Amino acid sequence: MSKLAGKVAVVTGASKGIGAGIAKALAAEGAAVVVNYASSKAGADVVVQAITEAGGKAVAVQGDVTKASEAQSVIDAAISNFGRLDVLVNNSGIYEFAPIEAVTEELYRRMFDVNVLGVLLTTQAASKHLGEGGSVINISSAVTSLFPPDSTVYTGTKGAVDAITGVLAVEFGPRKIRVNAINPGAVETEGVHSAGFIGSDFINTIVAQTPLGRIGQPDDIASIAVFLASDDSRWLTGEKLTASGGLR
Ligand code: NAP
Repeated sequence: MSKLAGKVAVVTGASKGIGAGIAKALAAEGAAVVVNYASSKAGADVVVQAITEAGGKAVAVQGDVTKASEAQSVIDAAISNFGRLDVLVNNSGIYEFAPIEAVTEELYRRMFDVNVLGVLLTTQAASKHLGEGGSVINISSAVTSLFPPDSTVYTGTKGAVDAITGVLAVEFGPRKIRVNAINPGAVETEGVHSAGFIGSDFINTIVAQTPLGRIGQPDDIASIAVFLASDDSRWLTGEKLTASGGLR
């Protein structure tokens, strides 16, 4: 039987990459999905089309998670389109590496706004709709234990996401809502391609040090999100699942 039949999920930043993979995987298990995007309407429409052609339910909803009113309307779209909210995947994120000498206030604010404030605003908006059995999944990163050089700001944002995950697990626990993080290693996505990481020494070194010997793919992360969204993970909350092919 489908693991998520009757459930409704919001996936932020689902127009491409890991978010698109998660949206499709949740829908394949029976969830109706709000596919959020910031600017890539075409990408979000392709994801919705793939879901509906496979017999699932999805709607594309624009919204910048760094703005409270837009985060609220993304969440409200779950209620207006599908009547409830069970699963929130905080996936929207940006990454830009810079040595400490090149860190600017602008870089700090831009990355913390999307990666941290976005998680807070979207979860805040979702809070009143989530009920017993609800699941919040934060997409953090393995950088919070790997500490790659030139990543103070990015790793700082994801360290905050790990900490927020732990706090919210305690805050939401009495309401039987679970909050967990997935901490992926390198995953081949549009964002990683456009950042110029593919083929770089950085990625080649990561792959060489990865026990399973390859870069991750969005599907590798999506199946973990299905697990965390479903009752199969009912006894997990406040966890960080490192999904890196064994790289530590
Ligand atoms: P990606 O391919 O660049 O996609 C990023 C997504 O985030 C897009 O859908 C984008 O929407 C959305 N987004 C950006 N700013 C937004 C905003 N202000 N409001 C709403 N949505 C916004 O990224 P990815 O590689 O799949 O990464 C997804 C998540 O996984 C991020 O949190 C990232 O830090 C984390 N992660 C990635 C890797 C990796 O190697 N790829 C590893 C560890 C963790 P638009 O396209 O509409 O702008």
